[in-house]
Amino acid sequence: LEQMASAFDRMNMVGSMAATVAHEIRNPMTTVRGYLQLLGRKEKYQTDKENFKLMIEELDRANNIIREYLSLSHEKFVSLKSCSLNSIIEALFPLIQADANASKVCATLNLSELPDLQLDENEIRQLLLNLVRNGIEAMPAGGNLVIRTFLDDSKAVLSVSDQGPGIPSHILDRLGTPFFTTKDTGTGLGLPICYQIAHRHKASIKIDTSDNGTTFFVYFSQTNP
Ligand code: ADP
Ligand code: MG
Repeated sequence: LEQMASAFDRMNMVGSMAATVAHEIRNPMTTVRGYLQLLGRKEKYQTDKENFKLMIEELDRANNIIREYLSLSHEKFVSLKSCSLNSIIEALFPLIQADANASKVCATLNLSELPDLQLDENEIRQLLLNLVRNGIEAMPAGGNLVIRTFLDDSKAVLSVSDQGPGIPSHILDRLGTPFFTTKDTGTGLGLPICYQIAHRHKASIKIDTSDNGTTFFVYFSQTNP
């Protein structure tokens, strides 16, 4: 048991060191980005304008990876409290709507009465936002996004549906692998974070996908005391 505990401590230490390093790397990156922006505006670099843009985009991509990685490592300290999943969704909905509207996506809620669940509010917000963002990104020409909650066999379920092109089976197999992305500016960390959060809530994620759209289901297997 002692051996196991120390292995666990070491893992935690590596995790928090990595988080510290990731955090520290962002400061010099911000400086570099600022100077690139300044240089890129100079007359003598105008022929290289595209390359400056590319360098800044790549820095932004690195920064996104760090930001999402940090949220991945931070969330080890979950605090589960008895609360209403529907209330968390309703409080977040204005933000989701603004996000959706900016992409010509119409977001709607369809919530059913649920028992309270043991949840970490911040984590559930992030789980939902990650699924919503993927749904919006799957519909670049716009469409409908529906967020539902319902009871299935007395288990609470949260689902997010889009009308995107669906997920091909060769990609389905790779979902949840950190850094796997099919997007130019994707990080491939959204779903891995979702799977981690679900795991910590004793929930499982199921996917229903066809060329008419995709639904992500989060099944909470918590039972009432
Ligand atoms: P990212 O969004 O940064 O690419 P994610 O982990 O969130 O990373 O998603 C990984 C990949 O899964 C995406 O690049 C995309 O190919 C696929 N994917 C996820 N959600 C959907 C969806 N709703 N519709 C179609 N493809 C999806
Ligand atoms: Mg994503």
